[in-house]
Amino acid sequence: MYLPDWLARQSLLRPHHPALIGAEATYTFAELDRWVSVVADRLRQRVPVGSRVALLARNRLAYAAVVHAAPRAGVTLVLLNTRLTPAELAFQVRDSAPSLLIAEAELSTKIHEAAYGVPIVTLEELTAPTTTISPSPAPPIDLAAPHTIIYTSGTTGQPKGAILTAGNHWWNAVGSMLNLGLHDDDRWLAVLPLFHVGGLSILLRGVIYGIPVVLHERFDPALVKRDLAEQRITIVSLVAVMLQRLLIVDSTPFPAHLRCVLLGGGPVPQTLLEQCAARGIPVTQTYGMTEAASQAATLAPAEALQRLGSAGKPLLPVELRIVRSDGSEAAAGEVGEICLRGPTLSPGYLGMPSRRPDEWFRTGDMGYLDADGYLYVVDRRSDLIIAGGENIYPAEVEAALLSHPAVVEVGVVGLSDPEWGQRPVAAVVVRFPVTAESLIAHCRERLAGYKVPRTIVFVDELPRTAAGKLRRHQLREWMLERGVTA
Ligand code: ATP
Ligand code: MG
Repeated sequence: MYLPDWLARQSLLRPHHPALIGAEATYTFAELDRWVSVVADRLRQRVPVGSRVALLARNRLAYAAVVHAAPRAGVTLVLLNTRLTPAELAFQVRDSAPSLLIAEAELSTKIHEAAYGVPIVTLEELTAPTTTISPSPAPPIDLAAPHTIIYTSGTTGQPKGAILTAGNHWWNAVGSMLNLGLHDDDRWLAVLPLFHVGGLSILLRGVIYGIPVVLHERFDPALVKRDLAEQRITIVSLVAVMLQRLLIVDSTPFPAHLRCVLLGGGPVPQTLLEQCAARGIPVTQTYGMTEAASQAATLAPAEALQRLGSAGKPLLPVELRIVRSDGSEAAAGEVGEICLRGPTLSPGYLGMPSRRPDEWFRTGDMGYLDADGYLYVVDRRSDLIIAGGENIYPAEVEAALLSHPAVVEVGVVGLSDPEWGQRPVAAVVVRFPVTAESLIAHCRERLAGYKVPRTIVFVDELPRTAAGKLRRHQLREWMLERGVTA
């Protein structure tokens, strides 16, 4: 199925409406459309239709130009994470075999080390403004065509290149809008990295909905706070660590026009949700992943306070079920693996067999649905600790430790124990000195005995992915190397 090019259509419908706002410039839909056409023509001159093109850049306005130009040039865009090392990038370049690498000039050393002979063009050159060319019209968008390849965060192992079709993105944008609604004055702040699905999806929603996207180059809490007010932002997508930092930057109220703080990417500490509720910040928790083109389930804004801690109900285009290890469907309240199906789900990973559209996608995440069908995400299946036959989800132990005033960050892993099979062990970052005994006593008041860690190690920092997610397997290896025992 084909749709008119989203941006070209908005340029016809609302040419003078702002489309993209950055620190350096603002583009209307007509201006952005013209810029994108020029970039698409330059891409066509460099690479054949059907090839892949990889992009390594931070959140620049030109990033958006390339994202919208790629389908016009008939190429699939591979989004590369700027925080990766040259060796990690080299893996993704070899894996995705692009015909061209586009990199910001400032990142050219990094990309040269990872290029393996693939031609390189700077983002600046590819997107330089021009007045002389009269660009070609935009062809329609093929919903079945691969639109982007996004590597998963690599939280649980080697990142996998998830293929997302234009249709995956389209249905995700539609599903998100059916849940959050679309208001005349909507303006979405994009401060998440654009190379992750959470950031990219904002750019696509901007041109699908016809609303302005305000782009920040990087996360600066004071700047976010300022622009929420000055740029009249109504929706912002954040991950928990960002929101935490926004709360401490100052205590002034969040502007009343801010109607949704979409919070996802990982587990959210209950204390953070409670703090936001107390300050009247409209937090909407969402559960999503690269393979689902971002949100899969989201809590409707009106229900956010009554269902604190829930990731809501599946978006309209997505089916969600919880399955037991034998494949049967779990009962309400029973923890099992979250499985998803629908038009937002990736057809597969690069170099791996593709999934049939009617096949359920097993997320590897454990969770349950309450009696009213609200999703609660518990933890990743691979992180489950089994102690004496009892299941322990590290996230629950982490939440208990985080509620202690001294604890800033925490990671819990299972280490083998001759008596129990496995026992939880915690690594903590603290803001003031505290003894392991007092932390253990704090856990004892909040957790069943078998969940309470007997060993707590104090560390300066925890191993995290570029997106700030805890790498539990790496933490576990680190503990084993240092001879930590349960
Ligand atoms: P990899 O698949 O390479 O190990 P990753 O799963 O971290 O990395 P992403 O696709 O960026 O890569 O992240 C999606 C994952 O983030 C989900 O599968 C889930 O584990 C976690 N997540 C997302 N939203 C939530 C949420 N609301 N609560 C708990 N966990 C969440
Ligand atoms: Mg994953």
